[in-house]
Order: sequence, then structure tokens, then C-alpha cells
Amino acid sequence: MPIFEYYCSNCKELFEELVMNPATSRVACPKCGEIKKVRKRPSATSLHKVPSFSGQPSTSARCSSGSFS
Ligand SMILES: [Zn+2]
Repeated sequence: MPIFEYYCSNCKELFEELVMNPATSRVACPKCGEIKKVRKRPSATSLHKVPSFSGQPSTSARCSSGSFS
């Protein structure tokens, strides 16, 4: 279910709307009924970024030159 987050710049209302096709669908603000000033925000679910795993492989050989007498 594509749920998008919308923000109304008219009354600063933030609301979520279930929109099948955001390109054609018009979303009206549930508070003031404004359509033109409603902007789609990136959905909260899409904000989950996969952290770029930059783990350094510990392949550096530990050359422990112990004094062996
Ligand atoms: Zn509004």
C-alpha cells in the first residue's frame, strides 16, 4: 500500500494519504481542503537507508616482532 506523506504549506498540516498513483492523484489537505499547496514528502518508509557498509577487512598482518632470545 503506497502511503505518502503530504505537507500543506497553507496551514502547515502534515498528513499521510494512501495514494495509488501520486502522479495523477490529487490530494487535498484534510484540514483546510487546499490542493495546490499540498506537497508530497518522501515517505517515511523510503527514508530507511541502507548504511554503506565500509568495514575494513582486518587483513593487515600483525607482524609482532617479539624479541625472542
Ligand atoms: Zn491545509
